[in-house]
Amino acid sequence: MKFIIAEFMQETNSFSPVKCSMEFFQLNGITRGEDLIESNKNTQSQIAGFINAAIESGNEIIPALSMFAQSNGPVEPEAAEYFLGELQETIKNNEPIDGLFLSLHGATQLANDDDGAGFILEALRKTMGQDRLIACSTDLHANITKKMLKNANVICGFHTYPHIDLYQTAYRAATLGLKFFEKKGFPVFAAVKIPMIVPAEGYSTNDGAFKDLTCYADDLQKKGIIQDFSLYQMQPWLDVSEGGSCVIVGTENRETAGTIAMTLAKKNFESRKDMGIKLYNLDDVIDMALANNTEMPVVVVDSADSSNAGACGDSPAVIRRLIERKVTIRSAAIINDVPAVKQAFKTGVGNSANFLLGGTLDKSFNVPLPVYARVKSLHDGIFIPEGNIWKGKRNNIGKTAVLQIGNIDVVVCQCMINTADPQLYRAFGVEPALYKLVVVKSATQYKVNYNKFTTLCYPVDTPGAATAKLDTLKIKKLPRPFYPFDDIDTFHPEIIYMGEPI
Ligand SMILES: [Zn+2]
Repeated sequence: MKFIIAEFMQETNSFSPVKCSMEFFQLNGITRGEDLIESNKNTQSQIAGFINAAIESGNEIIPALSMFAQSNGPVEPEAAEYFLGELQETIKNNEPIDGLFLSLHGATQLANDDDGAGFILEALRKTMGQDRLIACSTDLHANITKKMLKNANVICGFHTYPHIDLYQTAYRAATLGLKFFEKKGFPVFAAVKIPMIVPAEGYSTNDGAFKDLTCYADDLQKKGIIQDFSLYQMQPWLDVSEGGSCVIVGTENRETAGTIAMTLAKKNFESRKDMGIKLYNLDDVIDMALANNTEMPVVVVDSADSSNAGACGDSPAVIRRLIERKVTIRSAAIINDVPAVKQAFKTGVGNSANFLLGGTLDKSFNVPLPVYARVKSLHDGIFIPEGNIWKGKRNNIGKTAVLQIGNIDVVVCQCMINTADPQLYRAFGVEPALYKLVVVKSATQYKVNYNKFTTLCYPVDTPGAATAKLDTLKIKKLPRPFYPFDDIDTFHPEIIYMGEPI
């Protein structure tokens, strides 16, 4: 059989002032055809998972295209239409096609449609008709909608947070999808939405309530009671009318799928208060770094400004406080600032100048910080990540400068992505393990690699569009009642079966 492989990845933060235009997709490359296979070879990506699942089962693949953009505000509709247009053309040119293996983030809002993934799946279902396969892998933070469930045959979400099973999730989706063509064994998928969000720093699959829930579901799968499950915690900065967390369960028996999806959804809801986060006062964490006499650096987790979560990455809040306190320990920080990078290139390596740092994109949270800095080094901004997200794939943060302000080295870039990856420092000559204090703009994903050299990581109370203080978000569209915005202790679950009319 013959399957087309494609990918559309963008995680939307509804509170970001920056619209995600085609330019953002072009920056990190639109990969197509044979390049899509070549660039994913020996990686742990979703595309690699699809390719291997198809090839190992003796099937043929047609690589269509992959589009990725950093997290920011809603996506301009032209980008989704571009993706669809090219994918539909590839389908037409390669008929007969048996199915699609599609990697989506799943929390993508378009500027004209809250349900970006649903929009894409609905259009592709029209192209493919009812009898062909659409198998989809998504992020654990996806927002699963009725339109997605109606138009896909398989949807699998990551089982890990921090995410380390991108490859495995796509492999799982493709393998389950192949059962679609067999007389027996293809599961019925039941989904139950849960009216809740929790801060991304508040849970992980390494410990705590969410690990327990994941283990519980995993156990059901190991015992053969279910074939597949996905436990979605919708990323909390998505303000859409059909927003919410979700559980999907797949098993051959329709009733069992529905019953277990209900049970897991209720357990997930009951765990909501165990998936909270204590934010530290920034001054207290700076004090801990000053008092730290271990070899490990203290990581100041500035997740409110995480560009992995769609914030602008242009907050100078931590740098400002370090300067105000005249902190003398070696510190490393990072910030998005196009004008400052341009000025650094004009100033030249080894020279010093006055700069305004930060506050160029998100003016609602940040004001620029005036600093006198020396240009330490200049770079093209290209790096190869070491973390599991896009491991081995080229990342581009635009022209980049390292500025030295006293004991603080600041990586200043133009388009921050993959903020969890230490290469965001290392590739530009700043080795985080050698500093006493390191600013990381990521909620949880950074733990995969930072925990290899430090466990002294503290989420701090800083301003930003990706704040963990969810009750401060100016929510307009989410369905109500909804946790944590309403004081609810129960909800009325509804089972939705995948691939069926709604
Ligand atoms: Zn995620």
